[in-house]
Amino acid sequence: MPVYSQQMFSKLPNATTSIFAIMSGLANKEKAINLSQGFPNFPVAKELTGLVCKAMIDGFNQYAPMQGIIELREAISEKVFSLYNIHYNPETEINITAGATQAIYTIISAFIQKDDEVIIFAPAYDCYDPAVKLNGGKTIEIELEAPDFAVDWNRVKASINDKTKMIIINTPHNPSGTVLSEKDMKTLALLVKETNIIILSDEVYEHIIFDKVKHQSAALFNDLANRTFIVASFGKTFHATGWKMGYCLAPAELMVAFRKTHQFNVFSVNHPMQKALATYIKTPNNYLKLPDFYQAKRDFFLDAIKDSRFSIIPSKGTYFQLLGYENISDESDVNFAIRLTKENKIASIPISVFYNNKIDKKVLRFCFSKNEDTLLQAAEILNTI
Ligand code: PMP
Ligand code: GLN
Repeated sequence: MPVYSQQMFSKLPNATTSIFAIMSGLANKEKAINLSQGFPNFPVAKELTGLVCKAMIDGFNQYAPMQGIIELREAISEKVFSLYNIHYNPETEINITAGATQAIYTIISAFIQKDDEVIIFAPAYDCYDPAVKLNGGKTIEIELEAPDFAVDWNRVKASINDKTKMIIINTPHNPSGTVLSEKDMKTLALLVKETNIIILSDEVYEHIIFDKVKHQSAALFNDLANRTFIVASFGKTFHATGWKMGYCLAPAELMVAFRKTHQFNVFSVNHPMQKALATYIKTPNNYLKLPDFYQAKRDFFLDAIKDSRFSIIPSKGTYFQLLGYENISDESDVNFAIRLTKENKIASIPISVFYNNKIDKKVLRFCFSKNEDTLLQAAEILNTI
């Protein structure tokens, strides 16, 4: 029998199972309310599922083109133009992907080589660092500054050197629920101006942003758009995380390199869903109503827990709310999250897992992408803790 030890054979010897799989698994086992992994517990619009069924019945069941179907790419181009006033050529600058995760992995694989450095901001979404490592690169992690998780651009400047190949930003930001400002984006543009650094801008929550704040897409800034991959997820926007559908935008030269990798990574993605989405996104209201929809959920949840002992800074975007428990316990966030799931029957995500050094800020992340009944039941529990 061959023996394959992790340390000798795995390219990610120290990786553990994703926290989302662990906490959702525990929530199911313990029959706890699951506010851990981010997914809605309400249905996808009937119109959209109807369009998928129709596309299957109409026979769109074989491979889609490698770049994605042109109707969908054209519809995305129009949507992006109407929102950010920039034209992405549907032929050469837009590609449909199997969710944002595949887009991110493929972008990193297409460019990152041995010893390249990639700047990321912690707490960082969990798929960035392993993708960089699997391609022989190294992440330079810059901690976002408490209490509002702001970027210290001086630290970014000091971290940029000849090896810096990419900077990954994420706004609205998972897990902190903060957003980058216009000034942040302009500062970033200035910092990379004389370099060949590629930006990966993870904007999967572009439509989940609150208090009338405008999403600062990299597409809005010419000096950024000309070096940036923007990554989007239909899963987030249309309450269909299980469909794993997304797309990316980039200048044509970068997209050529992306496609060289994409064609061998997944080749093409789900055809009937592309057909359906191409029709569905032509109605702007299907995404423009999202900020109000999710803001109402955030406010409902926060109002319901306002007398709890958790400390709260309202989320500015995403469907996540951080809650501090420094007045409740000095347990580690991982232990506290596990205990709440087992004893109180409510599951959350400990924030320390999003840092390379696992720093523990005594903060848990709760997903409020749930119907009001679930949010009320969750609040009742949180108010007793
Ligand atoms: N980036 C961020 C910040 C996310 O939160 C997620 C998923 N929640 C993704 C990327 C991945 O999106 P997808 O499910 O479309 O792969
Ligand atoms: N993005 C989702 C979250 O942050 C989870 C995605 C996943 O399970 N990998 O909760």
